[in-house]
Amino acid sequence: MDIFCKIINNEIPSYTLYEDDIVKVFLDVNPNHNGHTLIVPKKHYQDFFDIDEDTLMHVYKVAKDIAKLLKERLNYDGISMCQNNGLGQEVKHYHLHLIPKYKEESKISLGEVYNKLK
Ligand SMILES: [Zn+2]
Repeated sequence: MDIFCKIINNEIPSYTLYEDDIVKVFLDVNPNHNGHTLIVPKKHYQDFFDIDEDTLMHVYKVAKDIAKLLKERLNYDGISMCQNNGLGQEVKHYHLHLIPKYKEESKISLGEVYNKLK
């Protein structure tokens, strides 16, 4: 079982920002920037080619809400959304990265980021 299935099953703790029947949203444990967030479908899909369109649309609907939350609380200057398949995909369970970008940034701990977002 991959690490995201374990997080979804609550076998591994995570800094969870949002969850519903279809997705779980939590902070990346190795963030590139403050507020680096992952949106992960609860059902196991390997990648973009495996995930169904309804779930994919839901992932992006939630991404919009989370991007707004991150803007409100962390006031980033830009945000990237990226999703790797095959080479470069570290966990073989579909996930969308939301990566805020800042003109100037002082890195803070995951716990501090989480406190600003929860
Ligand atoms: Zn999985």
